[in-house]
Amino acid sequence: MTVITRFAPSPTGRLHVGNIRTALHNWLWARKQGGRFLLRLDDTDSERSKEEHVEAIRADLAWLGMDVDGEERQSARFDRYDAAFERLRAAGRVYACYETPQELELKRKILLGRGKPPVYDRAALDLTDRQIADHEAEGRTPHWRFKLDHDTPIAWDDLIRGPQHFDPALLSDPVIRREDGSWLYMLPSAVDDAEMGITHVVRGEDHVTNTGLQLQMFDAMNALPPAFAHEALLVGSEGKLSKRLGSLGVETFREDGIEPMAVVSLLARIGTSDPVEPFTEAAPLIESFDFARFGRAPARFDGEELQTLNAKILHQLDYDAVAARLPQGMGADGWQAIRPNLTTLSEASDWWHVVEGPVDSVAIDAETEAFLDQAAEIAATLDWSDAAWKRLTGELKEKSGRKGKALFLPLRQALTGRDHGPEMASLLPLIGKDRAIARLARRL
Ligand code: GLU
Repeated sequence: MTVITRFAPSPTGRLHVGNIRTALHNWLWARKQGGRFLLRLDDTDSERSKEEHVEAIRADLAWLGMDVDGEERQSARFDRYDAAFERLRAAGRVYACYETPQELELKRKILLGRGKPPVYDRAALDLTDRQIADHEAEGRTPHWRFKLDHDTPIAWDDLIRGPQHFDPALLSDPVIRREDGSWLYMLPSAVDDAEMGITHVVRGEDHVTNTGLQLQMFDAMNALPPAFAHEALLVGSEGKLSKRLGSLGVETFREDGIEPMAVVSLLARIGTSDPVEPFTEAAPLIESFDFARFGRAPARFDGEELQTLNAKILHQLDYDAVAARLPQGMGADGWQAIRPNLTTLSEASDWWHVVEGPVDSVAIDAETEAFLDQAAEIAATLDWSDAAWKRLTGELKEKSGRKGKALFLPLRQALTGRDHGPEMASLLPLIGKDRAIARLARRL
């Protein structure tokens, strides 16, 4: 059996961090199993679905390194949904309803007022031909419900949540099609999962009840249902489902200089019992992916954790992996020297600017001026081929009698214009002899 998973966003906006996490888990599972990962665009709502969002979804997945083995669009499959609808209708599993939203709301309120669950009462099944004719004469068009089989209990063994049970009699027959013929999410998704041979559906736990309903749809269509894994939802570090998370996506990550693998490393592991670790490639995450590791508590997304992870990943990246994004002229030596000081890649150009100069001048006293003059002299006579920083400071220490901070800080300040930064031993060869002498002599 080839494992086939799908990520099924509605292209009504950009992906947010919660969608990305769901996509990632579907992708990791497919890759682990040597299976296929499909992008299914749930674009039955022609008004809200936009081509620009479709393109952004593709671009976001590509940026994150989630390669897609196939793409399907629901808007191209209306004939399939019609056919399934007609078969279910002929089998008595789909029925027409004429209640207005107001009437339905009233029924709900009455039931709730009596302390009962607001389950649809199936009044439409008792309509006589006469009543139906009257409704149609009034210009009412029906919406359609899927008729649950009350005699067959709903049960599945969820890959994350374990055994799940629902009594269908306590659920409303779901509306699957609106008055205007448009589709709600429920049936097209089940038709697609069946016809596309989806073996595993990984999605948020907000879909648990839908799964119960859809299992009866698979049954009514004589289709084998996929396995289901419902993951606990994502919350912000403050512990709530925040609005901020809903608008946080690849666009912001890119603007903030976050590496794709930082996002992937974090989202693959939060909410699981495996530790969040900085990975520069997906292979170990694919290898270790396991539904049994997922917990039932919400997964916490922490922006600071993402930044820390990002820095740790940058510190491991080879020059070749980043060369195209580095400032002009910065080679492998430059990357090695600067890499440990980065939290985002964009900071590389600040440090490269420090190497190339001009650097900022730092205020110094007369004593330090003399010390730097001495340093410039030594620098001019020094053998620069090897360990220049060590030789320079070694000689200076002896001649000036300075040591520790008094020795090192004025040199760093004069050479870089800053108090902190990358190791001087690796920075000095990049700055080079001429520039170093000029900076020590305050000819910036
Ligand atoms: N388009 C649905 C959603 O975004 C898909 C849910 C599913 O995975 O079945 O909620």
